[in-house]
Amino acid sequence: MKDHFDVVVVGAGSVGLLTAIELTLGGARVLVLERLAAPSLISKALAIGPLGIEALQRRGMSAAIANAEERVRGDEAVLETGRTHVE
Ligand SMILES: Cc1cc2nc3c(=O)[nH]c(=O)nc-3n(C[C@H](O)[C@H](O)[C@H](O)COP(=O)(O)OP(=O)(O)OC[C@H]3O[C@@H](n4cnc5c(N)ncnc54)[C@H](O)[C@@H]3O)c2cc1C
Repeated sequence: MKDHFDVVVVGAGSVGLLTAIELTLGGARVLVLERLAAPSLISKALAIGPLGIEALQRRGMSAAIANAEERVRGDEAVLETGRTHVE
């Protein structure tokens, strides 16, 4: 049996994943295509702007944001994976 999707999102970056989440919560059947086999190990953001914070807060992630903020110290950030990233 073939799967059918309403939307195909190309790229599992922050924009693609949030788009896919929002579409799924709205009832769409979403397929995400990502060319990389594993997440990148390179940090592409240490700071989130106000609009990004608002989008995450709308989905009940205020506590997760506050927790993440506490783990950034000066030029060093301890990532979810336990790795340490230094700018
Ligand atoms: C060094 C660095 C530091 C940054 N710091 C910050 C910061 O502090 N705060 C901030 O807000 N922003 C920051 N940014 C910017 C932020 O990372 C980008 O705005 C954000 O990643 C864009 O998300 P995106 O989903 O559009 O693209 P990406 O995160 O680039 O994701 C795109 C995804 O699509 C995949 N893809 C591409 N083409 C194809 C294809 N043909 N088929 C399948 N998959 C494909 C890629 O592999 C990738 O996974 C930083 C960027 C860099 C490089």
